[in-house]
Amino acid sequence: MALLDDLDRCVMCGLCLPHCPTYQLTLNEAESPRGRLELLRRALTQPSSLSQTAVAHIDTCLGCRRCESMCPSNVPYSRILDAGRTALTESGQRTASLAVRLIEKASHDNDAMRRLVNAMHAGRRLGSRRWLSALPIDGSPALAELADILTTTGMASNLITRPHTESRDKVQLFLGCLDRHWNHQTLQNAISVLEACDLDVLIPRQQVCCGAISQHEGKSEEANKRARQNRAVFDAAQPVIAVSTGCASQLHEHLGAHASDLLSLIRTHLGRLEPVALNATVAVHVPCSQRNVLGEERISETLLQHIPGIRTVRLDENLGCCGAAGTHFLREPNTANRLREDLVEQIVREQPDRIVSANLGCALHLRAGLHKRGLDIPIEHPITLLAQCVRQR
Ligand code: SF4
Ligand code: SF4
Repeated sequence: MALLDDLDRCVMCGLCLPHCPTYQLTLNEAESPRGRLELLRRALTQPSSLSQTAVAHIDTCLGCRRCESMCPSNVPYSRILDAGRTALTESGQRTASLAVRLIEKASHDNDAMRRLVNAMHAGRRLGSRRWLSALPIDGSPALAELADILTTTGMASNLITRPHTESRDKVQLFLGCLDRHWNHQTLQNAISVLEACDLDVLIPRQQVCCGAISQHEGKSEEANKRARQNRAVFDAAQPVIAVSTGCASQLHEHLGAHASDLLSLIRTHLGRLEPVALNATVAVHVPCSQRNVLGEERISETLLQHIPGIRTVRLDENLGCCGAAGTHFLREPNTANRLREDLVEQIVREQPDRIVSANLGCALHLRAGLHKRGLDIPIEHPITLLAQCVRQR
């Protein structure tokens, strides 16, 4: 099996250990990349031989891929992790709570996701934290936390683009299964800035979820199915861009180089934007997908520094990982909350005026942490600040 050859590339040097957020948190070898690779070897060859404790060590992995970007032997850790989780899921060794199953199922069906979002809004109005937390299902406290902080929804079908012309270059906007419901204003802001860059924005209607949530859940075939559907929908001759870096990473790896993230595309047109000044200290959260998969660690700062008056501060506690990590915050709320808490402490110390994160999952998870501490600092996508300063001209 090719994956076993990939596993053999690990020379057990341990250089990845200081870069792994869960190892840094626990100092437990089984919570490190090297330790997990040994468990994944057994998951791939004899999944039923793994104890539930061993499966839990695989579950607590954030899939952040920090280890992969640091490994001198180029061990393709995420490919091994995905295959190991798929083997465990298919063998029934790895199961998911009702909350996780709900989110994963809804990611395949826009109407179901809209119903889930509406139910969470209704829950919020009815004091969701009290009753949703009390439901006897794993993951319900994390869902209650999410319902508490949801503030905006909108319909992706209501996004406004200007009329297209033959002469302007085109970009295709990926909406995402969560962004289209929870990040509607950010999508509209992205359209404004892209149009200010003199690009026309196309929104293919038949597009589907990128498949990242299924991938996290060890459902590789579901994820591949979404990739095939999107390949048929998006024109390979034109750029495809995603607003959230989690989706952008998944699309980049499954659709090809023409699929990428919004911010790197904007950078290539930055000279066309002349934003007005904004005097603010902005704390920049760098999502793991942005740093470790897209290789764009500094992109948010580069763009924000194009706005006169902005001072940026990097959020770097726990190597920047907030713990959201796909469905990780629902599966492993304790680890997710410990990772987030250190970042929240840094925010308390820095006292920024605003916070940016280019991935919706991270932004929601951080917002929930701030809300818990009674902190009312806006956390937005970097494009929102850019749109605000470009629009005022
Ligand atoms: S995964 Fe890479 S960095 Fe980590 S122990 Fe193995 S060879 Fe070393
Ligand atoms: S993916 Fe992240 S959490 Fe998982 S082993 Fe690698 S560095 Fe650690």
